[in-house]
Amino acid sequence: MIPEELLCLGERPLLVICDYDGTLAPIAVHPSRAFPQRGAAQALEALQRHGKHRLVVLTGRRAQEVHGFLGVAGLRVIGLHGLEWPGRPEQPRDRAAIQQIVSRLPQVEGMWLEDKGWTLAVHYRDTPEPLQPKAAALLAAVPLPEGWEAMPGKKVCEYRPVGYGKGWAIGQLALEHPQHHPVFVGDDRTDEEGFAAVLGLGGTAVKVGGGESLAPYRLGNSLEVVELLTLWARGCG
Ligand SMILES: [Mg+2]
Repeated sequence: MIPEELLCLGERPLLVICDYDGTLAPIAVHPSRAFPQRGAAQALEALQRHGKHRLVVLTGRRAQEVHGFLGVAGLRVIGLHGLEWPGRPEQPRDRAAIQQIVSRLPQVEGMWLEDKGWTLAVHYRDTPEPLQPKAAALLAAVPLPEGWEAMPGKKVCEYRPVGYGKGWAIGQLALEHPQHHPVFVGDDRTDEEGFAAVLGLGGTAVKVGGGESLAPYRLGNSLEVVELLTLWARGCG
């Protein structure tokens, strides 16, 4: 069920900021298989055509991967938790830091690495379930080079340089669009900093799925996200 309040957010046009995995796409067994929810691309296209609302996809992935999945021309995608920002100079990669983190990782069955160039994600989705809490704890405790932080997510721990993150990115977007009412839709622990930021700006936070969250509003799954985006594109909101 879509909370009715989300269809009457006030007079200001919306700045809709949407996570990708688990939000526009159901969580997949492997990141390469995270195909968008049926109707997601059409809903995003419709929202883009809306005269006043603004739309941004904000993801921990490389932006090009999300473009590959969605194929929506002109869609604004901010990647790598804000490190990859269209129109801004490319950030330097700290390969020495990533190598240092890799050398300190614990050995856990089924664990695998996703090196994104600027950040590093360590997945333990394929680790036998009884070992997963231990994997999470070990990954969170890896000693990090100065200026790096760990971000635990859904059966993944991501390491990234400090100073970025979805909360920071939402603050930047709100500065660009001061007339818009910011709304952030996300599903994971990494999105909580985004919820905090959007609430701090007087905006709206929407959590997809279960689990504790700062977000006052809930959607059940990515199907409902697509429904909500479609309704916003039609002028509700
Ligand atoms: Mg997500």
